[in-house]
Amino acid sequence: MAFDPSSLRHLFPILSLQAYDHPLTYLDNAATTQKPLPVLDVIQDYYRNTNANVHRGAHFLSDRATNRFEQARDTVARFINAPEQSHIIWTKGATEAINMVAFGLEHLLEEGDEILITSLEHHANLVPWQQLAFRTGARLRVLPLTSKGEWESEFSHYFTDRTRIFAATQISNAIGTSTPLQTMLDNAKLQGAFTLVDGAQAVAHYPIDIQALDCDFYVFSGHKMYGPTGIGVLYGKSHALDVLLPCQTGGEMVRHVSYQATEFNVLPYRLEAGTPNIEGAIGLAAACDFLNIQDRPALLAWEQSLAAHVYFRLHKEGGIDIYSPEKNTTLVSLSVPNIHILDLNAYLDSQGIGVRAGSHCAHPLMAQLGVAGTLRASFACYNTLEEANRFCDVLLDAIDILG
Ligand code: PLP
Repeated sequence: MAFDPSSLRHLFPILSLQAYDHPLTYLDNAATTQKPLPVLDVIQDYYRNTNANVHRGAHFLSDRATNRFEQARDTVARFINAPEQSHIIWTKGATEAINMVAFGLEHLLEEGDEILITSLEHHANLVPWQQLAFRTGARLRVLPLTSKGEWESEFSHYFTDRTRIFAATQISNAIGTSTPLQTMLDNAKLQGAFTLVDGAQAVAHYPIDIQALDCDFYVFSGHKMYGPTGIGVLYGKSHALDVLLPCQTGGEMVRHVSYQATEFNVLPYRLEAGTPNIEGAIGLAAACDFLNIQDRPALLAWEQSLAAHVYFRLHKEGGIDIYSPEKNTTLVSLSVPNIHILDLNAYLDSQGIGVRAGSHCAHPLMAQLGVAGTLRASFACYNTLEEANRFCDVLLDAIDILG
């Protein structure tokens, strides 16, 4: 039997809001997901019953906060099958995590080295590498999609003996295309490059087995997987985290400080300067627990079926340019010739439908597609078939009115 989103929709109180007298239809999940009650409750409970600074105090609440904070790290480690919790570094999100790697590896790069990314990257996985290349004299290279939006069958020549870093997204936030990661990572490893995977768009949909994926670094944001904003994760293998220089220093990340020198703390604390986002970490662990008790393959199949349904309905209509794959994706990205996506967005919004219109922080990809931006409807486990149909109906009305 198909998955029934009403079985968990009641856990998301925000979804019962009205927007301008219409039922709120939230289809901007690739930007951020809504939060279920277990996440909301755990954050409130933290401030009611636990709040204290971690690691520093020796008193009842401080011990309690530290225990819950470190348990959260353990939960997240198990969520992605990391071998040990010391491999999990708390960050503000995927962006901060990638920057930490880009700054932390700078001391290993030389002029002429190559940093390889793909043409699907969010600016978060592009600009930090571009700036690193500027600072070091390394060369930023891009593994492109073909004009049909597919991967070239043979791309191994992009990986050279100068490739020091290979950084790729698992799934494109802008058009929903997946990256053939395993083959790319194998190529990168053959050249001895550090590998980073941007899992920001994957964690809410796919179970992640970091040991099977076998990349050096993996990053994601809590808010895109039903967790709070302001918390994310940098996972790293031991050897990779060990060579990363901390780009922030201060309290928490030290063992001993004198005016002459500082002895840094062990991992993971060495890379976590300052008071961390304690309730964010605990909230993210609650989001992992929420996902862990779901039938993940059923959720994914449901989200993909909604995207495929929208794809086929709109494709059948004709006159709409769709940039997403037909299937195996959880979003639909499109534009309509001669109608501005912001006008389409405004009409959808007036009917209570929240989607995303713009360049999706992927200017070079938009340039390659030959558009300034796209309109993106992205699905989460709580979205219904009625919502998918409403999106199509209202979009088609908008095209009639504006076209
Ligand atoms: N990478 C991808 C693929 C994303 O979709 C996003 C956000 O949309 C990011 C990185 C950056 O995430 P954050 O803004 O949470 O740091």
